[in-house]
Amino acid sequence: MTIALRGTGVSSGVAIGKVHIVERNRVEVSEYQVAVVDLDSETQRFHNAITIARQQLRAIREHIPPGLAADISGFIDTHLLMLEDGAITQEPVRIIRERHCNAEWALKLQGDALSAVFDEMNDPYLRTRKDDVHHVVERVQRILLNHGPMRHELPDSRLRDYIIFADDLSPADTTMMEHHGIAAFATEFGGPTSHTAILARSLGIPAIVGLINAREYVRSEDLIVVDGRAGLVIIDPDADMLAYYRGRQDRRHRYIKGLARLKGLPARTQDGIDVKLYANVELPLEFESVKEAGAEGIGLYRTEFLYMNRSEPPTEEEQFEVYRQLIESMAPRPVTIRTLDLGADKQVDGHGNPLEANPALGLRAVRLCLKEPSLFRPQLRAIIRASVYGNVRLLIPMLSNLDEMYQVLGTIDNIRATFSNQGIAFDENMKIGGMIEVPAAALCADAFARHMDFLSLGTNDLIQYTMAIDRVNKDVNYLYDPLNPAVLRLISMTIKAGKRAGISVSMCGEMAGDEHFVRLLLAMGLNEFSVHPRVLLQVKRVIRSTSVDEIERLSQRLLRSHDARTRQSMLNRINANLEADMTD
Ligand code: PEP
Ligand code: MG
Repeated sequence: MTIALRGTGVSSGVAIGKVHIVERNRVEVSEYQVAVVDLDSETQRFHNAITIARQQLRAIREHIPPGLAADISGFIDTHLLMLEDGAITQEPVRIIRERHCNAEWALKLQGDALSAVFDEMNDPYLRTRKDDVHHVVERVQRILLNHGPMRHELPDSRLRDYIIFADDLSPADTTMMEHHGIAAFATEFGGPTSHTAILARSLGIPAIVGLINAREYVRSEDLIVVDGRAGLVIIDPDADMLAYYRGRQDRRHRYIKGLARLKGLPARTQDGIDVKLYANVELPLEFESVKEAGAEGIGLYRTEFLYMNRSEPPTEEEQFEVYRQLIESMAPRPVTIRTLDLGADKQVDGHGNPLEANPALGLRAVRLCLKEPSLFRPQLRAIIRASVYGNVRLLIPMLSNLDEMYQVLGTIDNIRATFSNQGIAFDENMKIGGMIEVPAAALCADAFARHMDFLSLGTNDLIQYTMAIDRVNKDVNYLYDPLNPAVLRLISMTIKAGKRAGISVSMCGEMAGDEHFVRLLLAMGLNEFSVHPRVLLQVKRVIRSTSVDEIERLSQRLLRSHDARTRQSMLNRINANLEADMTD
């Protein structure tokens, strides 16, 4: 019998395959009393388990497939760091001695207490960090109980093309998936901002989380379909469904194959407008895919991911190395390095104020950097030093007024002067630009354009702040509308301000990578797009099929309209001869 289960799709794509159930055999822990004379040896047993857990994690890190190294090992480092933290290593010892209880029980109590703290946090990103605590606690408990390692962590190429079903997966599990050709995964727990979900998207593996009680319905070797975009798992699909999904997979393969021929071709419209097509990257592991996709450079490198999953920020030297390698490998193509955009949904320990009432309106990005020079200066120094190795553009996020811009430019001048005195090389002509993602900045884009070498439109935030909606709050998502006239006006003002000042304006928000908006944006005068490498050729396809001249009038009507239906109908007409959406 066919059964359909719905969860939260966190990485799109269709997979059809047999199920492999990952049995974590949840550890059952019970309490027993330990005699006073045995408390020392119980404590020692606990310390030994912690040591073994560290050894296991280090072994996993060493076996990460090459090419996935830097950022992925960061996820494992998070768990290793937890195993250094007194909350995990010391507090259970105190509990053992106070309650005279066994080590497993003490660790369970402490794990529950830590989970409760995370539950109370008002921040979805931090709340999902609870998963990390859970993984670490479970690992140590399994050692204490002699359960052996979690089976699925061991590399196993027999699982090629299987769909993994689990209650939950750790980032360490996920790192192995691409290497062993796993087709997709589905879990009962986890959220869209969990590390596991982030990795699934980076690796391009369809994934669904939040499939509550799913394993009551699914058995090993069952044939299932995973529809990552819809968040749907179909168990035992009938012939029609299989035909439908196989059709979608085939179309997708043909479409991707067809797109490959666009790689060497220019991103030029039918009426001869040349467009620059750049890539957005987050993780060093994506750097190669940028060139494969034929990007003309990197339009947005979100450096904050370098700062996550670790207790200390990366040093100047460490950053310099990452930037230098990227810049050299892309040269002479431009690499736009955005300075830290921490805060809001991207927190790291020890910086900013994670308990702000309105984090999106709080100490974020350039605001945080200006407040914490010890965080900001090493990054600026690393970028400026790396600038001699190719074509670097430095991008400042979340500017709200010119004063912030002056402060950053002043700091950069100061660092350059020091370098000149010390004979440290840097590119004196490195371009410096600003993100336009706060409505105040868009309204004053002309002033920014007079002082900056380029502007970059961050529509994800520009829409959030224009519409006064939290971009991660599903209840107000309906207001997240790139076609809203206020949003379109701000975009248009920014593009025009750039043109008047003779500087380039690109767009690096998700709107730029959505095929449906590409033509409208071209008609609005945008000719630099920065998009995820996976959609780059799709955007190029739309650009090459567009005649801006032909859609000019429809676009003007759309931009003038305050009626949502009219705008949608104009957009449909603008996109009339685009093929059906093939994005999953
Ligand atoms: C944006 O806001 O559109 C953007 C590109 O930045 P981020 O998504 O990293 O906030
Ligand atoms: Mg932004």
